[in-house]
Amino acid sequence: MSKKCVVVIGAGVSGLTTATLLLKQEKGYHVTIVAKHFPGELTGEYTSPWAGANWRSLITDKRQQEFEKKTLIHFFELAKTKPAETGIMIVDSFDYWDEHKEDFIEPWFSNFCPGYRHLQKEELPDNVEFGITYKTVTINPTVYLDFLLNTFLALGGNIERKEFSHIHDAILPDTDIVINCTGIHSRTLGGVQDANVYAVRGEIVVVELPPTHVTWSFKRYPRGSNEGIFKGPVTYVIPRNNGEVVLGGTYVENDYTTVPDPVIAESIIKRCLATRPDLLPVGQKELKIKRHGVGLRPARKGGIRVEAEWINSILGRDKRILVCHNYGHGGYGYQSSYGAALHLIELMKKPLNSNKTRISKF
Ligand code: FAD
Repeated sequence: MSKKCVVVIGAGVSGLTTATLLLKQEKGYHVTIVAKHFPGELTGEYTSPWAGANWRSLITDKRQQEFEKKTLIHFFELAKTKPAETGIMIVDSFDYWDEHKEDFIEPWFSNFCPGYRHLQKEELPDNVEFGITYKTVTINPTVYLDFLLNTFLALGGNIERKEFSHIHDAILPDTDIVINCTGIHSRTLGGVQDANVYAVRGEIVVVELPPTHVTWSFKRYPRGSNEGIFKGPVTYVIPRNNGEVVLGGTYVENDYTTVPDPVIAESIIKRCLATRPDLLPVGQKELKIKRHGVGLRPARKGGIRVEAEWINSILGRDKRILVCHNYGHGGYGYQSSYGAALHLIELMKKPLNSNKTRISKF
């Protein structure tokens, strides 16, 4: 049987994970990743290299919780078996709040993340009234993106650099399936133009600190609003496996500015040091800044789009093309990557295995 030809548009964490998983777990696919940007590049148009990144779940959506759970299991495995190659390490997360409300609802992962518990009063920093701790992972995005790309190439995948203005541009005479993983660009890509997609600007400061296996975040309890306790801007510190530590953060909806702002950077550092003054090594007056960064989280009203639809080919043949979508991952593209890709591949196989002639959307 001849192989199905798949074009994956996008080489961020979504495209690379989907393409790699497709080659790894399925037979009979010839996969090419076509993208404007690939690992190794730093530009505001390409979100994945700018992530912190850690696994810290903020969501209530059950489908996404399932994506994140499967991804964390996968990341724990990678951290144990290939830590240097993947840049993933197991850490203790400390999540703090400035207030403790009696109506605190345990997060969905409390029964799932090892070591989950409430912090004791004596374990809390000065301006913190409540906190939880659990085991999770941090991911060094540069290392992990390289790992995914190398794995994909070793499995026989192909890559090509190109920018498409319309999803139809990805369809060549032998194309059977197109997988759209264009992140924020799904807002403008012809044939997709998803008006629900919008940017959430995030600024970070990368500093050099002694190695640590602790990640922490600090959140003011929402007052007078119905945002959940995990929503809204958070101050955070995320260590990487190479001595770099990411300080954050900001969360500004519909802000497309990709130039770092020194005033914001200063306020991030102040916020981090206010919660954890011990971040500054003894005898050091200032943090050693390695670089500043800004990324645009590809958020989407209605959540991640993991869907498949048939479209008519414009090549004038009697052939329909299956177009699958995997975008809109907002601030959780790493922690949902593996589970979302698994789900997409299952969706993709359903219509391919079906004899039905008309499947428009499901
Ligand atoms: P992208 O990485 O943007 O990739 C899109 C790809 O599509 C690129 O290769 C691009 O070139 C290509 N492309 C787009 N349009 C076209 C076109 N027309 N033609 C050809 N190619 C095209 N997530 C976590 O899980 N944990 C975290 O701790 C975390 N922290 C974050 C901190 C910050 C400051 C930011 C900004 C994000 C953070 N995220 C985090 C979110 C995460 O980075 C994103 O959700 C994720 O990177 C999105 O990946 P993506 O592959 O969907 O998009």
